[in-house]
Amino acid sequence: MALKDEIYKLIQLQNVDSEIYNLRSRKDSEIPKELGNLKNDFERRKKDFETFSEKLKQLQVKKKEKELDLATKEESVKKAQGQLFQLKSNKEYQAKLTEIASLKADVSLLEEDVIKALDEIDCADKKSKEEKQALSAEEKKYKETEAQLNNQLAEIDTKIKILEEKKSNLVKDVDKHILAKYERLIRIRYGRAMAAVNIETENCGACNMRMTAQKINEIKMYDQLVLCENCVRILYLPEDFSL
Ligand SMILES: [Zn+2]
Repeated sequence: MALKDEIYKLIQLQNVDSEIYNLRSRKDSEIPKELGNLKNDFERRKKDFETFSEKLKQLQVKKKEKELDLATKEESVKKAQGQLFQLKSNKEYQAKLTEIASLKADVSLLEEDVIKALDEIDCADKKSKEEKQALSAEEKKYKETEAQLNNQLAEIDTKIKILEEKKSNLVKDVDKHILAKYERLIRIRYGRAMAAVNIETENCGACNMRMTAQKINEIKMYDQLVLCENCVRILYLPEDFSL
């Protein structure tokens, strides 16, 4: 087979290999990355919610403490008031009244604290319910996207299998040495062994390197594989093939 015919086969092979390469990078790199990001984002939101729930619990504990303090103080007020009538001197009586006034002031401060704590809890509780709803919506979305991506992975496997079969049919007729060279380039040149030269701009279609007139003449002869000096890919002129 003439070299030009071999190159024609390689161009077709390259189309299949490019597809395979793109599917593989989607499968091995992009999708796993997307799945990882998705999981991290969700875990972060979940953790935020847990932190918030913990805060709510602390608020409730704080409120309970204040309520206990309040009950104790109220008890002290009652006790002091009970003592008032047992007191003999006016001085003792006045001192007790002062004590009662001070205890009552404490009581009203504690009452304010309890009301404030209740407000805080109400507010946090409302927010917590909203967050919980948002989180469960988020979880649903996360699971759906995860399932979609896993479906894509399965579809990619099927597509690759079909393309591999197509490829094995194409390689049958390609010269072994040329094929070996092509396969080596595919491996080291990121899935692209062939580069079309743009005849108008005289650039390599893969790396944009400018071709000399002599190089273009060499390509046109198709009596040896001509490689791009910059990106080391097999060069061809699309005009020379019915693509
Ligand atoms: Zn190049």
